[in-house]
Amino acid sequence: MYIVMITPECAPIAKVGGLGDVVPGLSNELSIRGNAVEIILPKYDCMRYDRIRGLVKTYSGLWVPYHNQWIHCDVYFGFADGLKCFFIEAHNGFFDRGTYYGQHDDPQRFAFFCKAALEFMLKSNKHPEIIHCHDWQTGLVPVLLFEQYKYLGMTHPRVCYTLHNMQHQGVTGGHIIQQVGLDPAAYMTPERLLDHTHPHAVNLMKGGIVFSNFVTTVSSHYLDEIRYTDQGYGLQHTLYVHEQKLGGILNGVDYNVWNPEFDPHIPTRYNLETLDKKYENKTALRHRLWLREEYKPIIGVISRLDAQKGVGLIRHAIFYCLANGCQFVLLGASANDSINADFWHLRHHLNDHPDCHLEIGYDEDLAHQIYAGADMLLIPSAYEPCGLTQMIAMKYGTVPVVRNTGGLADTVFDANYAHKPYHERNGFVFNNFNHEGLESALHRAIGLWYQYPQYFRELMENGMHYDFSWNHPGQHYLNIYHHIQEE
Ligand code: ADP
Repeated sequence: MYIVMITPECAPIAKVGGLGDVVPGLSNELSIRGNAVEIILPKYDCMRYDRIRGLVKTYSGLWVPYHNQWIHCDVYFGFADGLKCFFIEAHNGFFDRGTYYGQHDDPQRFAFFCKAALEFMLKSNKHPEIIHCHDWQTGLVPVLLFEQYKYLGMTHPRVCYTLHNMQHQGVTGGHIIQQVGLDPAAYMTPERLLDHTHPHAVNLMKGGIVFSNFVTTVSSHYLDEIRYTDQGYGLQHTLYVHEQKLGGILNGVDYNVWNPEFDPHIPTRYNLETLDKKYENKTALRHRLWLREEYKPIIGVISRLDAQKGVGLIRHAIFYCLANGCQFVLLGASANDSINADFWHLRHHLNDHPDCHLEIGYDEDLAHQIYAGADMLLIPSAYEPCGLTQMIAMKYGTVPVVRNTGGLADTVFDANYAHKPYHERNGFVFNNFNHEGLESALHRAIGLWYQYPQYFRELMENGMHYDFSWNHPGQHYLNIYHHIQEE
């Protein structure tokens, strides 16, 4: 099958969050299975150009109709970790902002990107069976494909659209419809792109849901949450109307990057059979972070510091764990100034504590060492569409302590309460998003570590047995692609 991914992010060259990991992870799996995959991205000025191989201009003079003008673009080609990527360079400065998102005209920038990606495919005679697009930034792709480009000759592709986070929907003024060459009167209706709360606004994610052939989200639990709770952020009714084309598919983890058996970032490699060697990584982590050597568990957090991730609970957990015989290690970065200031303050306060280290920033190398060296990983999210860190932790024999939400609920099964046989239980889960909820899980986890180490060890091993690779999700997506082709 010939598949084109149209996406705002692709690791390692342009990554902000989990979406950035999903695109190459899934694309690799599809390629291994014999499919031809290409990726189309904006050519951001701030991309990691050092991670692109063989970058060349492949198409000169792509003129894209936008807002009653023709915008001059060029298209570049290069390999990112072996994947074929096309980069759309817009000569109007849309992607020369030194940042991926957060600009006042983000809706225009990405509406334009959708139009330019389709124009490029049309002009370069690309006729994939499947176009797979992601999040609000590419919501206009199926709208423009089926309402404009189909009539220009692109009759072949079917569209799969994946929702990674419903909180950001691309809600903006209705003028954008006109800017991409559509008639606002025809599209600003409740059945199509009209936003549910703002009476004159357009909702780009809604366009993606309405016009795609299939819509997926990144875990089956999150699918239920966005359909039936306020996690849908107003799109519950649209999802209800289109329920026959919805699916929840858990993201995979790239085990070429995340595997203690051959991880180049960790001091001692290990697997299920040599699990005792994990403790050499614990000692090394203590040395690196100036923690004392004592018989205590290390509780880790590796997270964006954002309200979504439960920053208030993380803060509470630090003091709870230190008061209950644990060491605590945090690696986190925040785009929010006040959260950042709060954690810098905490860091100064706890600077000399022999059992605590807070590292504020983004550090790939240290992340690997924490997964390998910690005993438990805490993820107290308010909501979590899929979540990768709990799955990575399990691969490293680190027991996750998580809140019962989204993809965390689909992957972590409580040691005491899960409706699962013992050998499938792999962590600790709490329901209530408050201090009591958090403490109820931490109390049980710490208690088991001290009092029943052999049972704790079983939890570690159970987690390592799970297969969270792209193997299953890859097959699942292929089934969807075949299904929408046959419709
Ligand atoms: P989200 O996409 O919401 O940020 P996920 O759990 O899906 O959360 O993915 C987070 C990814 O980012 C994981 O690979 C995790 O290891 C990594 N990560 C998060 N924060 C940091 C950090 N401060 N330093 C290094 N890696 C981080």
